[in-house]
Amino acid sequence: MKYIGAHISASGGVENAPVNAHNIGATAFALFTKNQRQWVASPITKKSAELFRERCMEFGYKPMQILPHDSYLINLGHPESEGLEKSRAAFLDEVQRCEILGLDRLNFHPGSHLGKISITECLKTIAESVNITLSKTSGVTAVIENTAGQGTNLGHTFEQIAEIIYHVEDKSRVGVCIDTCHSFAAGYDLSAVKGFNEAFDHFDKIVGFKYLKGMHLNDAKKGLNSRVDRHDSIGAGLLGKETFITLMRDSRFDNMPLILETPDEELWKDEILQLRAWENA
Ligand SMILES: [Zn+2]
Ligand SMILES: [Zn+2]
Repeated sequence: MKYIGAHISASGGVENAPVNAHNIGATAFALFTKNQRQWVASPITKKSAELFRERCMEFGYKPMQILPHDSYLINLGHPESEGLEKSRAAFLDEVQRCEILGLDRLNFHPGSHLGKISITECLKTIAESVNITLSKTSGVTAVIENTAGQGTNLGHTFEQIAEIIYHVEDKSRVGVCIDTCHSFAAGYDLSAVKGFNEAFDHFDKIVGFKYLKGMHLNDAKKGLNSRVDRHDSIGAGLLGKETFITLMRDSRFDNMPLILETPDEELWKDEILQLRAWENA
């Protein structure tokens, strides 16, 4: 069973997210539980959390169909103590917000070394940030998203992701989200069946499918190995529809949120219908 949705708006309160998801025919959704561009946010009220849970139940969204995304400001591999502490505090708040909402996973961008520490050191710092957060929380898995490798962002190779996981103490609460656009920008050619299968066989060998907790389905505007993160609508970019037909027919992507972060929100409803049609063709 494939759960397909989009990163929908939670403006006006998290309780609006399941409604917005339902309105586009989604069977999965992603959301920010706070403003993604601000460090601090007011706590989720009891009423808001209750409504969120009620509506998820009403519209048939189980935690395994929901992939919250953390703030863009957080850098869990920050080379300087002030930035690192701030990031760790904000990440803890993000995980606690998931706990309040009864969600079981949180998608995050691993971190950036900013040219000030080595890759190895940064990956270890990220893992330590995850360890600290997991020790203070329960029930939520930290889901590492692969990146396009823009600037000094890490997590663009499966090896780097595996290295973070290696240093995480509680392996039962760490996972991975693969973004198709980021993979392509980072050099994994998912545009044809052969490259797709090679990349995911490699993923299975280096990281392991058991860690896969979600996918971001985005076509790519920039070229293979461009290291530039620009999403395109499904079938409109350099990946093309073949990538998504292959993915929708591969059972390794069953039972996890498959999330569109494509640029034209007006198309989400149709993109979901198209993906579902490919799944069932
Ligand atoms: Zn993504
Ligand atoms: Zn992206």
